[in-house]
Amino acid sequence: MTHPGAVSPAAAPADEVTVATLQLIVDATALLGGFGRAAIHLVRPDGRLEEVAGIGDGAECPDGLDAVPKLIERAEPWGRFRFRPADGAPNDGRWHDGDLLFAPLVDASGDLRGLFRLDRPVSGRRPDPALRDRLGLCAEQAGSAIVTALERERVAEQVRHAEAARALVRRATHHVAGDQPVESILTELGEALVTHFGLAALWIQLFGEDGEAPVLAHAAAPLTERPPITLDPRFVPYAPAIASRLWAEQAIGVYGRGERHHVDESNTEPVALAERYLADQDLESMLYAPLGAGSECLAQVTMVRTRGAPRWTGLEIEAVREIGRDLGAILFNARADQRDRELLADLRALDAHKSEMVATVSHELKNPLTAILTNLELAETAAPENVAQVLAAVDRSVQRMVSIVADLRTLGEMGAEDDPADVVPVDLAAIARDVVDLVGDAAGRRGLTLALRCPADPVLVTGHAAELDRVVMNLVGNAIKYSPDGGRIRVGVQPTPDEVVLTVADQGIGIDEEDQGRIFSEFFRSPNPRARAEPGTGLGLAIVRRIVERHGGRIELESALGAGATFRVRLPREAR
Ligand code: ADP
Repeated sequence: MTHPGAVSPAAAPADEVTVATLQLIVDATALLGGFGRAAIHLVRPDGRLEEVAGIGDGAECPDGLDAVPKLIERAEPWGRFRFRPADGAPNDGRWHDGDLLFAPLVDASGDLRGLFRLDRPVSGRRPDPALRDRLGLCAEQAGSAIVTALERERVAEQVRHAEAARALVRRATHHVAGDQPVESILTELGEALVTHFGLAALWIQLFGEDGEAPVLAHAAAPLTERPPITLDPRFVPYAPAIASRLWAEQAIGVYGRGERHHVDESNTEPVALAERYLADQDLESMLYAPLGAGSECLAQVTMVRTRGAPRWTGLEIEAVREIGRDLGAILFNARADQRDRELLADLRALDAHKSEMVATVSHELKNPLTAILTNLELAETAAPENVAQVLAAVDRSVQRMVSIVADLRTLGEMGAEDDPADVVPVDLAAIARDVVDLVGDAAGRRGLTLALRCPADPVLVTGHAAELDRVVMNLVGNAIKYSPDGGRIRVGVQPTPDEVVLTVADQGIGIDEEDQGRIFSEFFRSPNPRARAEPGTGLGLAIVRRIVERHGGRIELESALGAGATFRVRLPREAR
């Protein structure tokens, strides 16, 4: 039975100890059984049979593994040995040239590992039943020597792989390249772990603050004989709790067909899931290791081995535990780097925004200030009948400065806190009604129709009444301001199952596509001369957007130049 990354089962080991043991068995058999020739041949990875221990000359072995089944089939079973008389030789008890006596040496799974071959009996006779029994014992010895050697070799191989994996991850911890995304580092390491631990696949799940545990990296051995192994999505939500428990105990969990380590059997659901998972995906075991740093468990790696693969040795588990700590360190550093980068980007953006604001504010205040200074100079020399006109111009500039300063203050207040603290249920329909009442006269004077559509019952959102009032006021104010006389303006408040939608739609000058992306920025005023003809600070919509966002909502705009504008504010409905 093959499993990825393990020693090929067709290859028999021939380390010094094994060869010496087999030679001893060969010598003893030849001596006790009275054979001039005895040899043990082992199966090589390429299927050839190679003599590793022998005494005497002659008695070559069949060339390869392919010939052996036919040989066994045609031979007469003599206990552990098989005997095939030479073609045409008489059955007279004597040994004839071409007589074949051999024992297949098999491992615990029944796979052929070698052949034990005997020839040229000193007595010149074919072995009698008593001798055959004794020879059987020798073959048994040879067989178990090979099985022991195989096991020794397998464990040594596992240890070598575990050491290599550990060294690899440790090196990666020290050399995590700044620009390489952590996912790709982990995927690369994952592939190495798949090879070194003889895994079918592994998954690394990263734990987020929201309790989610998405798969960050995945690696799998190329499996040609079976469909790819998938991680049962039902495991995903259990990972954070299981991994945290294991991290606290600094333990590794293994759920296998014949092995259990640190499995919380009282947690019946994931245990039942694991049982089914092994059966469904034809797996031998799944191992889950927590990844963390300090007291914090950050992620989990799940490793699976296909059915028939070896059990986890203590040394391998120890290696996985260390790897968990090293991978944890990689994740921890990557997360810290990521936070630093985000913070830096935020700070840079904030700094740039601040400089831009200062420049814009100075510019915006400079214009009315210049106008005031010029007019005051004019006032000194103006004819008395013109003074009132000059002062009126000064007053307009002062008013403009006052409104800019007032809007700036509001904007500053809105930015102070993301989430207004003293929020209450607010009836948005009532606010809309008040605003429409308040501006109704002014609109009427310009021949504008203001139509309000909202339910008679309160439409509640959670928030700040004064701020929400400002939102409605600004939007309706703009609709009036940017509509030609005689137009129609619709104001609506509609509840949906999750939201409350405030709509302010006009048939005014509209906003072209380019401007639509910018009108919510501070001080932006459309260059459209029809818009410029109206007074304004360019701060109204920036304030609106900030209020809406800190109420957990969003604002949308639909418009085209000359075809009116529809603003839609969506706020979460008050939780009842
Ligand atoms: P302002 O004080 O200039 O009205 P706002 O931030 O409220 O500032 O609006 C920014 C710009 O968006 C306005 O200058 C105007 O060009 C455009 N705008 C806002 N509302 C409308 C609307 N209903 N119709 C057409 N253009 C509008």
